[in-house]
Amino acid sequence: MKVAKTIELVRSLVKAARSSGKTVGFVPTMGALHTGHISLIEAAVKQCDFVVLSIFVNPTQFVPGEDFEKYPRPIDADLQVCEKAGVDVVFVPTTEQMYAAENLTWVNVEKLTDTLCGRFRPGHFRGVTTVCAKLFNIVAPDVAFFGQKDAQQTVVIKRMVADLNMPLDIVVCPTVRQNDGLAVSSRNQYLTDQQKQDATLIYKSLQECRQMVETGTTEAQKIITRMRQILNRRPSIEIEYISIVDAETLRELDRVVGRVLVAVAVKIGPARLIDNILLDTGKR
Ligand code: AMP
Repeated sequence: MKVAKTIELVRSLVKAARSSGKTVGFVPTMGALHTGHISLIEAAVKQCDFVVLSIFVNPTQFVPGEDFEKYPRPIDADLQVCEKAGVDVVFVPTTEQMYAAENLTWVNVEKLTDTLCGRFRPGHFRGVTTVCAKLFNIVAPDVAFFGQKDAQQTVVIKRMVADLNMPLDIVVCPTVRQNDGLAVSSRNQYLTDQQKQDATLIYKSLQECRQMVETGTTEAQKIITRMRQILNRRPSIEIEYISIVDAETLRELDRVVGRVLVAVAVKIGPARLIDNILLDTGKR
């Protein structure tokens, strides 16, 4: 496994792999790697001959007041995880490598970024799409792998790739959860044991939603009210949003019909946590 700290090096390593006929898979991350990231690496290793993983805590996707400074950066442990999982190149650029002193060019996906997390984190998705566009240009992968955990991100990135005719495929991998249902996240480490316990209510509320839909409830407000009751069982949980939206347009729905994304964002202590499920009622 090679560690590339410069754009030039990662480009030349990918070029060499490509000239020997290998397909290139890419896993963009912010590090603090966990089983969720490992599942993306495994999918990439399975589907591609050569796997590049980037670790870059991207400053432009953090809104002022968020956790950019304190975001965990355990680089040695991350490199061990990558080595073990079969990554070929870890790209670890500095901010100076990625951004000129004044960045004047931004990629912005409209409409899809106005809802869900976009409403509460203004500028976040502009940072995500800009850094992903830059990383796709640098690495030039055939396939990039993203987690369903960040559902809106997958929809926004797919749209960017389609609208800008970027020559790669986007693969979305299922959300990896702990045994108690909590979605694995680098930000879970901000939580105390009690807060981690409380956070299991997020997935419980999503499971309740699935159950209600499976037993015939279609009224979105009724489901959201029930989910709110479940989350309100623990005073540590501050609900940011519970939204039931069309899985493609991300527009709010009154009725759960068709391909539907149910997404939750909460704050617990110092952490902002998100989770979601996809439902398909099969009819429109
Ligand atoms: P991050 O390092 O948080 O930017 O995440 C990098 C990638 O890992 C993104 O595509 C995330 O959606 C994905 N990811 C994070 N947590 C999980 C999880 N629990 N299951 C699956 N994918 C995940």
